[in-house]
Amino acid sequence: MLGAMQDFDLRVTHIIDHAAREHGAREIVTRWADGSETRTNWAEVRRDALKMTQALRRLGVGKGDRIATLAMNHSRHLVSWYGAVGVGGVLHTVNPRLFEDQLDYIANHAEDQVLLYDAAFKPLVERMKPRWKTIRHFICFDDGEFEAWIGAEDGNTDWATGDERDPCMLCYTSGTTGNPKGVLYQHRSTMLHAITGLQPSIFDFDARAVMLPVVPMFHAASWGLPWSGAAAGIKFVFSAVNDAAVLCELMNREKVTHSAGVPTVWLATFQHMDATGTTLPNLRHAIIGGSAAPRFMLERLMKAGVNVAHAWGMTETSPIGTTGAKSWDWDDLPFERQVDIKQMQGRVPFGVELRTVDLGDPETVLARDGKTSGALQVRGPWVIKRYFQAEADCVNANQWFDTGDVGIIHPDGTLQLTDRTKDVIKSGGEWISSVELENAAVGHPAVAEAAAIGIYHPKWDERPILVVVKKAAMEISADELKAHLAQSVAKWWLPDAIEFVTEIPHGATGKISKKDLRDQFRDYKLADA
Ligand code: ADP
Repeated sequence: MLGAMQDFDLRVTHIIDHAAREHGAREIVTRWADGSETRTNWAEVRRDALKMTQALRRLGVGKGDRIATLAMNHSRHLVSWYGAVGVGGVLHTVNPRLFEDQLDYIANHAEDQVLLYDAAFKPLVERMKPRWKTIRHFICFDDGEFEAWIGAEDGNTDWATGDERDPCMLCYTSGTTGNPKGVLYQHRSTMLHAITGLQPSIFDFDARAVMLPVVPMFHAASWGLPWSGAAAGIKFVFSAVNDAAVLCELMNREKVTHSAGVPTVWLATFQHMDATGTTLPNLRHAIIGGSAAPRFMLERLMKAGVNVAHAWGMTETSPIGTTGAKSWDWDDLPFERQVDIKQMQGRVPFGVELRTVDLGDPETVLARDGKTSGALQVRGPWVIKRYFQAEADCVNANQWFDTGDVGIIHPDGTLQLTDRTKDVIKSGGEWISSVELENAAVGHPAVAEAAAIGIYHPKWDERPILVVVKKAAMEISADELKAHLAQSVAKWWLPDAIEFVTEIPHGATGKISKKDLRDQFRDYKLADA
């Protein structure tokens, strides 16, 4: 016997229908790369997306076809998300910061048929055209091209229908080793993830929310914001350029209450605020994720009355995994303890399951004791089962996916990430957390950025060195920094050497690239080695 309720497919086109019907007039503002601004709303986004499905059908593009975008955050990019999924296609958001060989690889691997791109990436597109074998149609979002393309249609059509397990979106992880790998989201997984984003501890949306997502739409589906934001009917403010002055000006003028970005975005924002005396009085909720948020960043935002959702996730988890939810006794805790909690990666929402297993023996599940660190595994309805076009599943028999992260789970379920499996530094058989060393280092006012890596040592196997970028016009010696670190980490964790550099390499999503850094220091010799 089956239950007698409606078979209402969890397809993401329902989200835009809802946004247009219930929140149709809620604005979507875009500040374009040329400095101009436009305003649209959810009703118009839906109408334009329907027109785009007609235009795609005219090109012979439909069910299951991959429709790629190479674009920053703006309203036409948003329209294209709903247009691509609306025709039954698979939206493939491509990260323009990838190396050209990676761009070559992923567009061919994805077998993209259509590419929608920003005028800013025209030179890149022209260079890549001969290498992209499957793309039949190139449409520029700017210079009136996108509008003319959809403008020829009347929008009088229906969304494609199908199974809720149909694919709707494809996102490649930049891959620290080997080729990038594609994560193929379903309508169903995306819908469940979007609804989860509506929980207060995650995006904290209500009808008054005004969100400026700094996290790009090509980075892990912009953490699901274009779906959750539509479901909640919020106002979006997009900026096609990531300049701190522009972002702060927009935040104040449009009364932005919510924002989301990786820690480096907040660093740049703080620098601009300090240099100009700007404040962000309307900001209420900041989602920080993608890499560990340093303590001073959390303190500064929290002191300014901003609720911080420090979140952990990955492209493979759609990406919501955990967020820094407030505990039941939050209001009674001293400020320092509140910051301690927020510095950890938080707790799962309903739907995500986490566990840690022994680093050397994945069969041994570790206790949630707040002490023992192990390899972090995850499972749930929006967690990957198999990479796109891969021959085998990437989960074990019980659906556990190995995240490649190392962490501790506390008795109340709070996750504390200590490293990535490939980044942990192994010294004399014991693990040193590179993340903790880095967090302690950036806590010093003269340090702009820091990265710890393991260097071969004949006795200890590996010893940590710390690579540091100083803040402009600030001075600090290696000994001073060591003394600062000694206040928060064990003595044997202290780096054997501190190297000051002008720049630390970053990957395509703006995070420090340990792989490139290790390459740079491949021939480095420790003094006592
Ligand atoms: P990429 O590897 O291309 O950057 P992702 O954006 O999917 O791809 O990165 C996911 C990884 O980012 C996680 O496995 C974890 O190592 C790291 N990460 C994400 N959020 C946090 C966080 N809050 N604290 C520390 N590390 C994080």
